[in-house]
Amino acid sequence: MSEPTSEAATPSRPVVAVVGRPNVGKSTLVNRILGRREAVVQDTPGVTRDRVSYDAEWAGREFVLVDTGGWVPDTEGMGAMIAEQAEMAISLADAVLFVVDATVGTTDEDEAVVRVLRRSRKPVVLAANKVDAPQFEADVAAMWNLGLGEPHPVSALHGRGSGELLDHLLEVLPEHPATPLADEEAGPHRIAIVGKPNVGKSSLLNKLARSERSVVSDVSGTTVDPVDELVEIGGEPFRLIDTAGIRRRVKEASGSEYYAWLRTQAAIERAEICVVVVDASEPVSEQDLKILSGVEEAGRGLVIAFNKWDLVDEERQRYLKREIERDLQAWAWAPTVNISALTGRGVQRLAKAVDTSLEGWQTRIPTGRLNAFLGRVVAANPHPVRGGKQPRILFGTQAQNRPPTFILFTSGQLDAGYVRFVERRLREEFGFAGSPVHIEVRARA
Ligand code: GDP
Ligand code: GDP
Repeated sequence: MSEPTSEAATPSRPVVAVVGRPNVGKSTLVNRILGRREAVVQDTPGVTRDRVSYDAEWAGREFVLVDTGGWVPDTEGMGAMIAEQAEMAISLADAVLFVVDATVGTTDEDEAVVRVLRRSRKPVVLAANKVDAPQFEADVAAMWNLGLGEPHPVSALHGRGSGELLDHLLEVLPEHPATPLADEEAGPHRIAIVGKPNVGKSSLLNKLARSERSVVSDVSGTTVDPVDELVEIGGEPFRLIDTAGIRRRVKEASGSEYYAWLRTQAAIERAEICVVVVDASEPVSEQDLKILSGVEEAGRGLVIAFNKWDLVDEERQRYLKREIERDLQAWAWAPTVNISALTGRGVQRLAKAVDTSLEGWQTRIPTGRLNAFLGRVVAANPHPVRGGKQPRILFGTQAQNRPPTFILFTSGQLDAGYVRFVERRLREEFGFAGSPVHIEVRARA
């Protein structure tokens, strides 16, 4: 068997945002499309997870679904918030699934979203939801007045019409996302600067943009999204994801926190590497951990930037070290950089950290080398005997890179602890610095 030395870039999946006012059934529809498969997440104590993006598949095509349904705005100023949410979704998605409630008819809030949708050139599929029985289909015809083309009747609750809806979605879904995973041909790598409010994201962006301001509109093979920007860090060009979102001061209103999280998740999805900015002058918080988990779960490369280093004295450094050991152990594989967005200290060093991360993220281990290594691991540290049997790793393969994803074929289930041990050994042997490593176990019956 020949081993691939280089590989075509893994095609990146188009992103579909599910948009609409509250209670029209967005989350129900997302669950329907996912077949009620819950996202499998590992538990990290103290970290609240609210995923909004999911891997979905229909008729053999894969896409990412972004659920905007967990968001409950204030009734006050709801129209404006919904329009803003739609704008965010549109700017980040390749296509929009716009959900209306056929039993209610179109409302002013729906119209507000439609205005945003029309201004965009993104493809839209209109779902007229809650059509639980054929006799309600008459209501659906009225939805033509939105001017978004054919309304597709669906019952997210019972599943009626969801297959047809997805067929239509696939018809309008671009074959390739607007921003394919960067490779040498496709131009600069995509990085997202993420972090909780006030850690210094926009200060960092301004520092980077000032040092080498270059908004490039034509990079071969890619469409430049107006929310992105090209910057140079340490002499290297990078594409910064969602600079518009970083620059915009999201107004302090109910729902804005969720909105910010949604935006963060969408930026993470589109990036190759995420620079998570943490305020080093303050204790590490749950929000920081949540964002770090989000990056890991999305399988993106990770760099941790400890910002406001100019405010960190020796005492604070000692505390920070302890906080890192206590709270950030799960991401010990990520390169860290101490920076000050205010003074510019360390900012140029981000480039090297991002490169490290990219390298780890893209690493591919030839099957032969991997199995020789696994053989040594199994021989030196066999799995403990369970129920009189000893589960064994028979062989393994790296199914994917970006991030490195391994499948271990085994006799018997492996303990979670043993899988973690294998991951640790894989990292010791091959690096993968700055990248999550995914391991899937397939036990022979
Ligand atoms: P979201 O706020 O847009 O995400 O809406 P949800 O998915 O939370 O749904 C709001 C309510 O509408 C829930 O009580 C759902 O059970 C209900 N619902 C969603 N889809 C349907 C449907 O197809 N038919 C009916 N009858 N109810 C639905
Ligand atoms: P964002 O909400 O994450 O975009 O944070 P901002 O960039 O708006 O920064 C929040 C506050 O922190 C502002 O008052 C900045 O001037 C300040 N700030 C940002 N970076 C630094 C830094 O490196 N050192 C210090 N001392 N202050 C900073």
